Amino acid sequence: MDFQFTDDQKMLRETYQKFCKKELTPEYARWLDENCRFVPDEMLDKLADLGTFAIGIPEEYGGLGLGMVDICIMMEELCSAAVAVGFAAFLPIGFGARPLSEMGNEEQKQRHLPKIAAGREKWSLALTEPGGGTDILGALRTSAVKNGNEYIVNGSKMFISGAHVADYILTVAITAKAAQRKHGLSLLIIDAKTPGITINPIDKISIRAISACEIHFEDVRVPAENLLGQENHGWYQLLGTLNPERIGTSVFSLGVAKAAFNYALEYAKVREAFGRPIGSFQILQHYLADIAIEIENARNLIYKCAWLCDTGRRYDVEATMAKIVACRASELAARYGMEILGGYGNTTEYDMQRHFRDYKQMMFSPISDEMSKNYIAQSFGLPRSY
Ligand SMILES: Cc1cc2nc3c(=O)[nH]c(=O)nc-3n(C[C@H](O)[C@H](O)[C@H](O)COP(=O)(O)OP(=O)(O)OC[C@H]3O[C@@H](n4cnc5c(N)ncnc54)[C@H](O)[C@@H]3O)c2cc1C
Repeated sequence: MDFQFTDDQKMLRETYQKFCKKELTPEYARWLDENCRFVPDEMLDKLADLGTFAIGIPEEYGGLGLGMVDICIMMEELCSAAVAVGFAAFLPIGFGARPLSEMGNEEQKQRHLPKIAAGREKWSLALTEPGGGTDILGALRTSAVKNGNEYIVNGSKMFISGAHVADYILTVAITAKAAQRKHGLSLLIIDAKTPGITINPIDKISIRAISACEIHFEDVRVPAENLLGQENHGWYQLLGTLNPERIGTSVFSLGVAKAAFNYALEYAKVREAFGRPIGSFQILQHYLADIAIEIENARNLIYKCAWLCDTGRRYDVEATMAKIVACRASELAARYGMEILGGYGNTTEYDMQRHFRDYKQMMFSPISDEMSKNYIAQSFGLPRSY
């Protein structure tokens, strides 16, 4: 077994460490949280100059042709500095580049991949509906009815990250009545500027610089050529997108955990009580040690999943476990971090409150911990509990 990054991967990590030190300062991360509903274009341009959006795209489409381990290395640095920026980087990678590379036809790849690689197309994934996200198959109502060479889309989506700035929304819709809903779903590439689409950002407390949005589709005309993959096979095709998404969101949690840990550690070194730094008290040292253990656990599982993904092995159960382990690390880091800061943790002047708000989003998105455990338990051959 080799737990080492290659020389190229070490260079990639150093590149992003330097970038984060210069551009994603604590002041910038705070400013984003307080003022933005999405990461500003100037920052996205800087990310594009580094090759951020090109990373997983095949070279023949203007990409760097790198794998999931490389994406995780880059994302770990970005998310540790400012999770919203890592999230903004992941949206076109996870919901544009990856599904297009895996399911797109040649014309779709030529049309979109070079633009995504250059940072000129933003993407969102619209799966969840107002009726629910966990029982998504039961809740799904959005329909796409074939009419000549178009689909007519009607319905609503809920909590769609970055839809208010997206150029394209990869949308899951019902295209056929089937005995089981999963046999009648398709994926459509919808131009966000198409008439009939209304998008409203929702005010939220976590990762505020990536708004989640309500979307309404009213008689939205989508060219039939914008079908991604095979008609009515969308559910099975989507699963190939949701597994990398679980790795991606695990890295969001890892980033929040590392940020909270570093913040608490620095504070514990300088804050004094009883004439000593509070970091000299054993219980606070144990808090920090416990966080570090969970962070290391999460990192190991995340990179194992990324390796499984890059080597073409199955990793759905591991990615679901990684999501839970990384969430736990961020939860512990934020909770103990608040303890370590005492009263100051509760003020908006200190960054710990942001980490305490940010970690919460990944507890239920893209999949809740409860549903994740259902999925893991089923993998042992146990009957569905729901
Ligand atoms: C900020 C944010 C960003 C998001 N971004 C996106 C996005 O970009 N695209 C997208 O498509 N969706 C997105 N989502 C939606 C997200 O995936 C859903 O919120 C998630 O799937 C949970 O669905 P729900 O909120 O409807 O909760 P519900 O499905 O109503 O669940 C509520 C509670 O019931 C529990 N529960 C339900 N069924 C079971 C069961 N069988 N066993 C045990 N417990 C159960 C859940 O675990 C949860 O605790 C986002 C959500 C948020 C809040």
